[in-house]
Amino acid sequence: MILVTGGAGFIGGHLAASFVSAGRDVVVLDNLDPFYDTDIKRRTIDVARQAADNGDGSYELVEGDVRDADLVADLVADAQFVFHQAAQAGVRTSVKNPRRVDDINVEGTLNVLDAARDSPTERVVFASSSSVYGKPSYLPYDEEHPTTPVSPYGVSKLAAENYVRVYGDLYDVPTVALRYFTVYGPRMRPNMAISNFVSRCMNDEPPVVYGDGSQTRDFTYIADIVRANAKLLETDAADGEVLNIGSTDNVDIRTLAEVIRDEIAPDLSIEHGERQAGDAEHTHADVSKAGDVLGYEPTEDIRSGVGEFIDWYRKNREWYEPLVRSS
Ligand code: NAD
Repeated sequence: MILVTGGAGFIGGHLAASFVSAGRDVVVLDNLDPFYDTDIKRRTIDVARQAADNGDGSYELVEGDVRDADLVADLVADAQFVFHQAAQAGVRTSVKNPRRVDDINVEGTLNVLDAARDSPTERVVFASSSSVYGKPSYLPYDEEHPTTPVSPYGVSKLAAENYVRVYGDLYDVPTVALRYFTVYGPRMRPNMAISNFVSRCMNDEPPVVYGDGSQTRDFTYIADIVRANAKLLETDAADGEVLNIGSTDNVDIRTLAEVIRDEIAPDLSIEHGERQAGDAEHTHADVSKAGDVLGYEPTEDIRSGVGEFIDWYRKNREWYEPLVRSS
């Protein structure tokens, strides 16, 4: 069985559906946290259930909290692989409430690791983040780059990642940490820049870029994240490693807004708003280590990924757009 914590969320939901489609038995642990509208999570669960109905794999949802050590221990005991995605994501939320983020992201990870220490689990894969790097000394970031996070969220991810490494070293728990770089795609959290820009352009409103828009990001399409994780079902080559998983197609936020605007409503202008606290200035992934160790290669650039997202958005506009507008 594969345990996906946070499997009702954006990334975990895609992982769960893809594993089920590949014939695997998947258990999702998720507390359906109302951080953003739970309607998205219900639909995410439905997609994975549908995959189980159509294929050979099975799907079970356990509604519970990753901070519940006994529950986590019970589930991990039966898991061949654990993909630990459950977290309080979002830099801005962490600026407002650092303790809550620490509680979920660090304590939750310790529960998973303690449980894996006492079980025959083959691998714990931890969803880390480019937020661990913080202020760049050089770009693109390779995994040797200093880690000086600039938000409580980044601090929590780095602390959890260090526990992941130490449990690997001290207790022989096979672990891999994947540092994701800004992930987007169908059913993404509605409060992200891409969903917001798409929604505004769809409604003939100019996208609003925070600050001057010179901040750069490696926007990574969800399909590439799923491919990277799926490789870890097949190989132990990455055990003990920390790997960047990004797109390498680095764009600034203003360019992102222009790509989306040009695709949907080319006559619109771009507006600028106040810069948000805790936002990293630049992120840019060097993925050569993931290429060497896993054969990982990103397949989507910003134009192709955004194009796929806009197609999905149009088909799902009726229910998704109100969530974006109210977030
Ligand atoms: P998400 O918020 O959509 O998914 C997280 C899921 O975890 C949610 O379904 C939520 O209900 C669940 N959860 C939260 N607290 C929980 C708890 N206490 N117990 C059980 N479940 C809980 O976020 P996402 O974008 O899918 O991110 C998934 C993982 O990837 C997170 O660990 C995040 O830190 C990491 N990550 C995401 C990105 C990104 O751009 N989306 C980038 C880097 C890292």
